[in-house]
Amino acid sequence: MPRVIVSPRAKAARFPNSREVFMNNNIRIGNLFGIPFYINPSWFFILGLVTLTYGGELANFPQLNGIIPWILGLFAALLLFASVLAHELGHSFVAISQGIKVKSITLFLFGGLATLEKESETPLQSLLVAIAGPLVSLLLFGVFGFISVIVPENPPLQAIFSLLASINLALAIFNMIPGLPLDGGNVLKSIVWKITGNPNKGIIFAGRVGQFFGWLAVIVGGLAILGISPIGSFWTLLIGWFLLQNAGFAAQSATVQEKLDQYTAKDAVIPNSPIVSANLTLRGFVNDYVIGKQQWRKFLVVNETGQLLGTIGNDDLKKVATSQWTEFTIETLVKPLDDITTVKSDQSLLDVVKLIETQNIKELVVVTDENVVVGLIEKASILKLLQKEAQMKNQKPELVSSSVE
Ligand SMILES: [Zn+2]
Repeated sequence: MPRVIVSPRAKAARFPNSREVFMNNNIRIGNLFGIPFYINPSWFFILGLVTLTYGGELANFPQLNGIIPWILGLFAALLLFASVLAHELGHSFVAISQGIKVKSITLFLFGGLATLEKESETPLQSLLVAIAGPLVSLLLFGVFGFISVIVPENPPLQAIFSLLASINLALAIFNMIPGLPLDGGNVLKSIVWKITGNPNKGIIFAGRVGQFFGWLAVIVGGLAILGISPIGSFWTLLIGWFLLQNAGFAAQSATVQEKLDQYTAKDAVIPNSPIVSANLTLRGFVNDYVIGKQQWRKFLVVNETGQLLGTIGNDDLKKVATSQWTEFTIETLVKPLDDITTVKSDQSLLDVVKLIETQNIKELVVVTDENVVVGLIEKASILKLLQKEAQMKNQKPELVSSSVE
């Protein structure tokens, strides 16, 4: 089943997609091994559909009369979803064994979804998480296949169990298609990650392959609806659309991360950040930085060598009578650094974004190794940098590397 990692990195580039469309209004059922378990309303539609399909087939058996085939159909449908759940638990247990929190397991229109808090540390670990689901499905194929053989002379029960066996086999095979967001895509991602040493390159590559399979399914489904293709259905089209959206989302988010990783914190510093010297008089501060300048309400205060001492806000000026502004310096009003987070200027911009997202920080102060203040970073200044880069790329591709300063 598609596996989604909601990492702080991924959040940096969020936009609504089909997953979110299908993942709204989830109903919390309870906890499974400590993992919050949800069911999407669309799942009930599928449960009804599968029950009708199975029940209809079972009604053909002369042994089954009245309501019995439909009850057995429901039973088989529930076993099918238990199989899907087991597949997701397979991913989840391996993730948990790596110290990764599983945020939720959800059953929805297209099956199941385990949402992990973050990516594995190594390509091998990532591969193990990805492959665990299909391995569980293969195991269930064996178990149900075995039961269907040993069930004594009972055609309807044999039919149910061999159906469940074949569905689990199909689950394993379908999910091993090597494109994101499918498990096979995650396996491919791990391999490319291992080869290139870069997880984002793995996601981008497997995402593109996922988009290819998504398009393939959309086209096959579309042709089937038009009566041109002998295989496929409206369902194929729908699944293709879902794959397309999620593969594109994964690739796009990884592309942004890849870009962010090429920059350091100092690249995103706001030009003319609000920095003032501690030995400036309050009068000088007001004249040079406050009057007629509405851009900043808070300033970073530095000593003669540029090290950060604290902050001063426009409102702090009220603590000193206007007549005394020439006598006091900013140092008298400086506030401690409690609410300020600093990052080193050569830190990867990707790490900075992670910090902003996980700790919900509005602004960060960039300092050198000697703690000299370089300036301020805000979410907006990071976005501006990326936009600037995108524009440069469109206009003069050859200038991209030299324009990064
Ligand atoms: Zn899976």
